[in-house]
Amino acid sequence: MIIKTDIAILGAGASGLFLAHFLKGREYILIDHNPIPLKIKVSGGGKCNFTNEFISADNYLGDRVLISEVLRHFSNRDTLAFFKEINYQKVKNNQYFASSSDEIIRKLNQKKFIAEILKVEKSGSFIIYTSKGKIIADRVVVATGGISYKKLGATDIGYKIAKDFGHTVITPTPALVGLSLQKEQFWMKRLSGVSLKAEIEIGDKVFVDDLLFSHRGITGPVVLNASLYWKKGKIRCNFLPEVRVKNSNKLLSNALPLPKRFVVEFLKAHDLKDTPIREAKEAIKLLQNYLFAPAGNFGFDKAEVTRGGVNTQELNGLESRLVKDLFFIGEVVDVTGELGGYNFQWCFSSAKYVADRL
Ligand SMILES: Cc1cc2nc3c(=O)[nH]c(=O)nc-3n(C[C@H](O)[C@H](O)[C@H](O)COP(=O)(O)OP(=O)(O)OC[C@H]3O[C@@H](n4cnc5c(N)ncnc54)[C@H](O)[C@@H]3O)c2cc1C
Repeated sequence: MIIKTDIAILGAGASGLFLAHFLKGREYILIDHNPIPLKIKVSGGGKCNFTNEFISADNYLGDRVLISEVLRHFSNRDTLAFFKEINYQKVKNNQYFASSSDEIIRKLNQKKFIAEILKVEKSGSFIIYTSKGKIIADRVVVATGGISYKKLGATDIGYKIAKDFGHTVITPTPALVGLSLQKEQFWMKRLSGVSLKAEIEIGDKVFVDDLLFSHRGITGPVVLNASLYWKKGKIRCNFLPEVRVKNSNKLLSNALPLPKRFVVEFLKAHDLKDTPIREAKEAIKLLQNYLFAPAGNFGFDKAEVTRGGVNTQELNGLESRLVKDLFFIGEVVDVTGELGGYNFQWCFSSAKYVADRL
């Protein structure tokens, strides 16, 4: 079977679906091997954190000039207007969640050609080889995402296509992911299931949010955000953020606003005694200024996103500088956002940016 069309969108996840929405009346095909966008479905714990109140290039890793231009073209306000008829609410004063990710999927839903994308070539037009035959298209938009969460349908086809057309791909690594521990911090593993509010400082970034101890290491929003900026080396952790410790005769394990199990394990691991607060300067200093180097991360299977991707220096806007009429949008591009709706916003903004240039 051979299908001829003007525009082929490869991948019907957040960015591909969003793009298709703006191509009504145009001749296009949307190709995906999954009938439903599984990442949207599971995102935000099933409630899809689809944008954020405060967004700028500061919330992303990647080319600041490009990110700012794309976000200006279609902003978080535009996203809220687009989804105005769905039920959503603002959480933690800045994150917008739908009442169910199904509402987002319903709003974005489009007719798809269900097939595995195998390869793309260009000879005059583009030829897209799929498990169900060839598609000939004048323009191609690669929206096949990153490689994290393979069980939800992720593949490296986008990177392969980019490389086949001469692009470089910044090495993909897991991000927004839990961090594993070196031997010195194995005491944290004994706290599996315990959570607390912590501040993590990494480079010039500071995050304050929940930290969850797990049998593999540390996770939770504050760790996921730190993981975006961590490659190797030390991070600084404050287990008493926004707390003014008052001198008292109460024992550390009773007086500190921390889970008792945590305080006990922390003291034990550092050969410190459970003393009255007024005698515990060393312990408190260490709790507020705990420097350690994670061992690694939990890997692509647990990473919400992939850091790295198609090199933006080889793109003009989001069109290939090497191959005319070849575009890249969404997570396949070397732009990665923090936790909090920034990644979907990038998908929507980049999709609309390209929609207006096709
Ligand atoms: C568990 C989890 C929770 C998340 N929660 C949030 C959140 O709340 N807020 C947020 O902003 N971000 C969240 N993210 C990140 C967000 O889901 C992604 O950044 C976003 O989905 C990327 O969109 P995309 O269109 O670039 O790629 P995807 O949504 O991954 O879409 C790519 C599409 O391409 C298809 N595809 C891939 N390879 C092939 C192939 N060879 N043939 C055919 N089809 C193919 C896939 O099936 C998929 O449908 C979460 C991610 C995960 C894994």
